[in-house]
Amino acid sequence: MKCRHCQTDLKHVFLDLGHAPPSNAYLSKEALNQPETTFPLKLYVCEECWLVQTEDYSQADDLFSEDYAYYSSTSQSWLQHAERYAKTITERLGLDNRSFVIEVASNDGYLLKNFVAAGIPCLGVEPTNGTADASEKIGVPVLRKFFGVATAQSLADAGKRADLICGNNVYAHVPDINDFTQGLRIALKDGGTVTLEFPHLMRLIEKNQFDTVYHEHFSYLSLTSVSRIFAQAGLRVFDVEELPTHGGSLRIYGCHFDDLRNTLPSVAKMLEREVAFGLQDLSVYQDFQSKANKVKNDFLEFLIAQKRFGKSIGAYGAAAKGNTLMNYAGIKRNLIDFVCDAAPSKQGKYMPGSHIPILAPTELGKRKPDWVVIFPWNIADEVIQQQQQVRSWGGKFVISVPELKVLV
Ligand SMILES: [Zn+2]
Repeated sequence: MKCRHCQTDLKHVFLDLGHAPPSNAYLSKEALNQPETTFPLKLYVCEECWLVQTEDYSQADDLFSEDYAYYSSTSQSWLQHAERYAKTITERLGLDNRSFVIEVASNDGYLLKNFVAAGIPCLGVEPTNGTADASEKIGVPVLRKFFGVATAQSLADAGKRADLICGNNVYAHVPDINDFTQGLRIALKDGGTVTLEFPHLMRLIEKNQFDTVYHEHFSYLSLTSVSRIFAQAGLRVFDVEELPTHGGSLRIYGCHFDDLRNTLPSVAKMLEREVAFGLQDLSVYQDFQSKANKVKNDFLEFLIAQKRFGKSIGAYGAAAKGNTLMNYAGIKRNLIDFVCDAAPSKQGKYMPGSHIPILAPTELGKRKPDWVVIFPWNIADEVIQQQQQVRSWGGKFVISVPELKVLV
């Protein structure tokens, strides 16, 4: 296999999680009687451009089904994050009713609704019908397409190049990162700005976040790799910020390569930190599997010990993270009885692989488990705040990443 960015032969495995079903392939009750398709879940690191990427496999198209269940507006903290971003970037770039904003992977309109409210013309690009419908319902216009060179060219031809193109948590999920990045340049006005947010590979390694690995998450990105990908597409990263979202993300600011704005010192500083951390040193990547194995083993030992004590264990958040962790650890209903999730689209379904049933959060109060595992550890504070009732019967919360921890 060759690197998706620079075409170098990939020789070095970063992480091998065996085989797993697609993390968003939630199952209906009827589907439980049928065979389940799994795909290899293996990451390589490119020693030339340092892009960490999933292994190619056949039938990749099977991963994306139309009933893809994630709606961004489900998470309160994510909505607040989007609102703050819209306000800050509007001020920084001086956006107004003569500007044009494009969001790539605009989901259910959770972000662009802030621009609509401020009277700033905008357009979401979103291929999934369910979320696009939800977006249009709240007055956020949508182009139902995947983003890349072809879509960008059609926008440019229609005179719809943007002053701001934003993509929050799409960049890592794009199969062809070169095509996507060239699309950004084509759809960007002269003097325009691109902002992208993505989980920071440095944090993934540092905080043992191997459960953020899943098939639809094609790339694991650093400023080191993204700067190169941007440069090859005729773009330049001119500023970078660290964000606490998704366990530690980067927000990068990009412009056309020959834009008049200077590159800010933040860029060189972050590149230096990545080098100091070892992101240009193969051994840092090759040590990661044993770190992931320790987290997995500690979690399994905890579950087994609690079961021996006769304790009941439920979980909160039917997130992709939970599926990766449970499938790698081989956890089934014999260890975790059920998982609650606030998204009605997931309730009544079953987690892929583990077949653990997904219930409404009100079931927590009826079943009163001794332990509640929080799979989306990145929003653990929000979950605990919402589910204070668990304390009333002496229940406790636990997370497994970056290490096993009881949350009090
Ligand atoms: Zn490469």
